[in-house]
Amino acid sequence: MTKPQMSEARRYQQLRAHLSYLKLDNAAEALPRILDEARAERLSMTAALERLLEIEVNATEERRLASRLRFACLPEPWTLADFDFAAQPGVDEKLLRDLATLRFLDDASNVLFVGPPGVGKTMLAIGLARSAVEAGHRVYFTTAAELAAKCHKAALEGRWNTCMRFFAGPRLLVIDELGYLPLPGDGAAALFQVINQRYLKSSTILTTNVGIADWAGAFGDATVAAAMLDRLLHRAAVVGIDGPSYRLRTHQAHADTIRQGVNAHVS
Ligand code: ADP
Ligand code: MG
Repeated sequence: MTKPQMSEARRYQQLRAHLSYLKLDNAAEALPRILDEARAERLSMTAALERLLEIEVNATEERRLASRLRFACLPEPWTLADFDFAAQPGVDEKLLRDLATLRFLDDASNVLFVGPPGVGKTMLAIGLARSAVEAGHRVYFTTAAELAAKCHKAALEGRWNTCMRFFAGPRLLVIDELGYLPLPGDGAAALFQVINQRYLKSSTILTTNVGIADWAGAFGDATVAAAMLDRLLHRAAVVGIDGPSYRLRTHQAHADTIRQGVNAHVS
């Protein structure tokens, strides 16, 4: 080997080592291929560097998406595209399309899905959550019972504040299945504190089979229920699924007002 060739080979090794040292492993691995391409296609230095770093950027994006998805704990792989609007004419498709733009995250608006079991509340919540994860947001999915249990355990172990910080963290928190069964122990208080600390800061999606008019009964405490609804509904889209239910009809007028507000806001 002549000397210039050797130094070129050493320089290549050095470059590879630099990439590895900076943990740009995908770029390091792609380096020989990109250099070959650069020679074959007579790429400019800029084009070759761009092609090399694009590989690393794509790999990083994929890793971050996977990590956000793991963190989010979505229980099903459902997406909004899977939801059959024709099968559920009770759902306001236009409102859902608006929500799917994720603009509601920008002003920390909430979304409430209210309806009986099996109408697709969880599916829509997961669909929106997944869109948010894919758009780069930190999302966390839990059920009301799970949240109550986690907070209860944290209180016993002296980690209440840490637990509250955890639930304040995600840009979007989904609380699924707030139901007629009262939350155990200090569950209602925990839920209230979580909602309260997220109020006006970050969005919460809540699904429930309890019509808004019946929340006081479901919580066993009208004051907590009213305070929670106040914060949840201040900026919210209410998606009532199941037109014929009497309970839903009673809050429909309320939902309409809120929906108009949200539509005015997001459109
Ligand atoms: P809920 O949370 O209201 O009890 P789910 O979201 O769990 O209901 O939906 C129940 C099941 O029915 C799920 O498997 C869901 O995928 C399916 N499903 C409900 N509504 C629809 C719909 N409009 N299009 C497609 N699948 C639906
Ligand atoms: Mg459900």
